[in-house]
Formats: sequence, C-alpha cells, structure tokens
Amino acid sequence: MKTYLFLLSALLYSGFSFAQDIPARWDELVASDFPKALEKSSHTCIFPIGILEKHGPHSPIGTDLIHVREWAAHAVKEEYAVVFPDYFYGQINEARHQPGTFALPSKLIWDLLEATCDEIARNGFDKIIILNGHGGNPEFLEFFMQSLLNKRHNYAVYFYRPQNDAEYTAAFSKMHKSDLGGDQHAGESETSTLLYYRPDLMRMDRATDQSGANQKRSNLPNLYTPIWWYSSYPNHYAGEGGKATKEFGKFITDHEIASFVKALKEVKADTKTLQLQNEFYDRVDNLNK
Ligand SMILES: [Zn+2]
Repeated sequence: MKTYLFLLSALLYSGFSFAQDIPARWDELVASDFPKALEKSSHTCIFPIGILEKHGPHSPIGTDLIHVREWAAHAVKEEYAVVFPDYFYGQINEARHQPGTFALPSKLIWDLLEATCDEIARNGFDKIIILNGHGGNPEFLEFFMQSLLNKRHNYAVYFYRPQNDAEYTAAFSKMHKSDLGGDQHAGESETSTLLYYRPDLMRMDRATDQSGANQKRSNLPNLYTPIWWYSSYPNHYAGEGGKATKEFGKFITDHEIASFVKALKEVKADTKTLQLQNEFYDRVDNLNK
C-alpha cells in the first residue's frame, strides 16, 4: 500500500510539475499558456538569427542557425525567456556562388526583420534580445537598430554583443591549435562548437578537401570593397575545421551559454532602456512646441 501511495503521489506530482513547466520555444507553447510565458519571461523574447550558407566542405549549411538555436535552448534551461522560432533571413550576398545559400533582396530582409520585431511586440513582449550567429549580419543589425529611433517604438531591442573576457581568452588560446587570426568561418572554433552541439551532422572526413587559407588576391588595406571576402576566401571557408574537437566545443559552448544567461538576466531586469527611449521620443515629438 505504501508503495502504491508513493507511486500515486509521484505520478500526481510529475503531472503537476509537467503542467507548470511551460516550453520556451514560441512554436511549442499552447496559446492558453502564452500569458504565463509573458510573465515568466518578464516580457522578454530571445530572437536567434542564423543564416543558410556553405560552411566549408564539412559543416552544415544551417551551421549558424543550428548554433543559435542550441545556444538559446541551453540558456533558457537556466533562465526562462520565450525563444522565437527558426529565423534565417539576413545578409549573405557574398556566398551566392556556393550551393545552398539563401540570400533574399536587402529591402526584403529589412522589412522582414522590422515586421518580425513589430509582431513579437504586438504579442506582448517589450524586450527583444537578438542572438546572432552569422558573421555577415552585425553591420545590418546595427543599422537596423539605429533606425529604430526614427519613429516611436513601444519595445526595446538589445543586440547581444559580448565583451572580451580576458580569463576565458587566455584559456581558449591555450587549447586552440590552428592559427588564431585565420580561425573564422567554419574554422577550428566554429567547427568545434557544432561538433559539440550536433556531431551527427558533421562530415569531418571532408574538412581538408578544400583550403580555408587566406588567398590574399587583392591588397587594398585602406579601402573597403564588397568583394573583399570572396577575394580572400573563395571557398567560403576560413580556417582549419579539421583541427576541431568536441572537447574544445564543450569549452566554448559552456562559456557562451553562461555569458548569454548573464546578459539575459540583465535584460529581464532592465527598465531603464525603455524609459530612456520614451523620454527621447517625447523630446522628438515636442521639439518645436
Ligand atoms: Zn558560421
């Protein structure tokens, strides 16, 4: 009888806790739990942004998307927030010569980003934190955010941009095997990260099929051209993915998750940004009154 009662209470308890434990992903929530998700997240939505582009000869086309998806999923286990579903519309014109690249026109990616933020806010979130995984996006994202001051918005957007952590960087450099400066797109670090998150998708036997070395085909140090990346890395591969390990991936991801959780807590507690934005919009509106 005792065992029976124990089992019954365990069952009831697990059922109870299941009902309390709401998913973080927007697409996995039932609508009737949405108010609870808003409250639990302090009206904060994580907006992971990836891309579809070749990642060397060995890592999946959705590497950046998979990276931010996993990163956010791990972070919300420690600090709850709602996570916007898969989004892979960004700036990737420089990889249009490679198979699998999904590069929409610039006006469309701008409008899509603005409309997505507006829709997230219309659903009750007044804080959106962008978690970007793609190296070709920051300039676009920063310009988009500067433009938010052009008209009144009832929400704040935060772009997660971690500062250098000296202690971590020192340990990272020690473990790192390839040339640090050349380790960029699908190189040792990014490949290690994916090897940790999704080893099933990696084709490590192909990592040395192509060169990820800088080809240095143009030399205009003081001038910016749109072809700069292609001139250096025509294989859309920068670094040595073959030197990646799952262990190094765990080291990188443990740090990136912990750092993001810290920022997420700061955003959830922040009221100042919205207050200052409103003060700014009021002054704009009252300029000549
Ligand atoms: Zn990438």
